[in-house]
Amino acid sequence: MMEVKENLKFGQGLISGYVSVFLGIMALLGVICFKYPEWLTTPEFRAVYTGASMKILLTASIIAAMLFAILSFMLSRNKKWPLIGLLFITATIVVGGFDVDPRPVSNTRWHLGLDWLLLDLLLMAVIFIPIEMVFPKRKGQRTFHEEWRTDLVYFCVSHLLVQFFGIITQQPAKLLFGWMGLSGLHEWTQSLPFAIELLFAFFITDLAQYWTHRFFHTHHFLWRFHSIHHSTENMDWLAGSRTHFIDIFVTRSMAFVPLYVFGFSTLTFNVYIVFMAIHAVLIHSNTRINFGFLKYVFATPQYHHWHHCKNPNHYGKNFATIFPFIDMIFGTYYLPKNEWPEDTGLLEANFPKGYVKQAIYPFTKSPFDSDLEMEEYSKR
Ligand SMILES: [Zn+2]
Ligand SMILES: [Zn+2]
Repeated sequence: MMEVKENLKFGQGLISGYVSVFLGIMALLGVICFKYPEWLTTPEFRAVYTGASMKILLTASIIAAMLFAILSFMLSRNKKWPLIGLLFITATIVVGGFDVDPRPVSNTRWHLGLDWLLLDLLLMAVIFIPIEMVFPKRKGQRTFHEEWRTDLVYFCVSHLLVQFFGIITQQPAKLLFGWMGLSGLHEWTQSLPFAIELLFAFFITDLAQYWTHRFFHTHHFLWRFHSIHHSTENMDWLAGSRTHFIDIFVTRSMAFVPLYVFGFSTLTFNVYIVFMAIHAVLIHSNTRINFGFLKYVFATPQYHHWHHCKNPNHYGKNFATIFPFIDMIFGTYYLPKNEWPEDTGLLEANFPKGYVKQAIYPFTKSPFDSDLEMEEYSKR
C-alpha cells in the first residue's frame, strides 16, 4: 500500500512523482476501458465523447506521465515515485496503450462506469488540487491526509455503480407518480425560457434535497447513515464523496422526484447533473476562496463547512446544497462574515474508519444506543 506522509512543496520532485503515478494508473485503466467498453463504459457518457478524442487523451496522459516521471527523477532524491510511475507507464504501453482502437460498442444489460470514474476523477483533480494547494483554507492539512484512501474508495464505488444508482434512484418517483398523466405539466415546464427552467430545476430539487437532508439530521436512525458523511475531519475535494449508499439512494431519489414530476428538458437535466457534480465537490473543498457577494446567492465552501462544524453550538445549520435563501426561509441559515468553523467532524470518539466498517455501521446498533448519542441527538 502506498504510504504518503510528506507535505507537498514545489520543487522537491514529489508532486511530479505523484502526478506520474496518478496518470500512469489512469492511463492503464483507460486502456482497459478501450479493451472492454461493453462492460466498463456507460452508454449515456459514450454519447457525449468520441472514441477518437479519448484516444488522444490517453496518448497525452501516457506522454505526460513519462515527462512527469523524468522531471521527478531530476528533482527528487527519492526515486520511488517516478519508478512506480514508469512501471505503470510500461504496463500501459505493453497492454497496447499507443495502439488502442475505438470501435462501435453494443449495449449490454449491466456495465460499470469506469469511464465516468476516470474522466471525472481526472477533471476534478485538475481543477481542485491546484486550487487547494494555492488557496488552502487549512494550510496545515495534508493533501494525502490519513483518510484520503477511504474517501477515494467512496468516489470509486459511487462512480463505478453509476448505472445501478441511476436505475434505483428513479424508482420511487416512478412508483409514486408514474401513474399520473403529467404530459401537460411537462409541456408547460419545457415551454419556459431556458434560464427560468434551469433556475426552477435548481430551486425545486434543492427544496426537496433540503428537507431530505434535514430529515437525515433529525431522525435518529437516519442520522446513523448520514453521520458517515459528517465523519470527515479533513474537508477537501474528495470529502463530499464520503456518503453511505443508503444516504445516496434516499437523497438522490427525493431530488429526482421534482425532476420527474415537472419533466424538465434533457438540456436542463444535463446542465443540472454537470453543475451538481462540480458544485458538490467545490463546497467540500479545502479552499478559502469566498466568491464575494455570490456567497449569499450560492452555497460556497465556507457555507457548507459550517454545516460540517464539529462544535455542537452550530449544529443544524445550512442544509441547502445550492441556495442559501432556502435556509433563510426555514430559519437554519448561518454565515458569519469571514469566520470559518474551527474543526469539522463528529464529537463521537472511535467512529468506524474505512469504507466497509462505515457501510455496515448504521445497521450494527439499535437506535438510541448510548447516552452520548442521545445527548448529541437532542442538540441536533
Ligand atoms: Zn448533513
Ligand atoms: Zn457535506
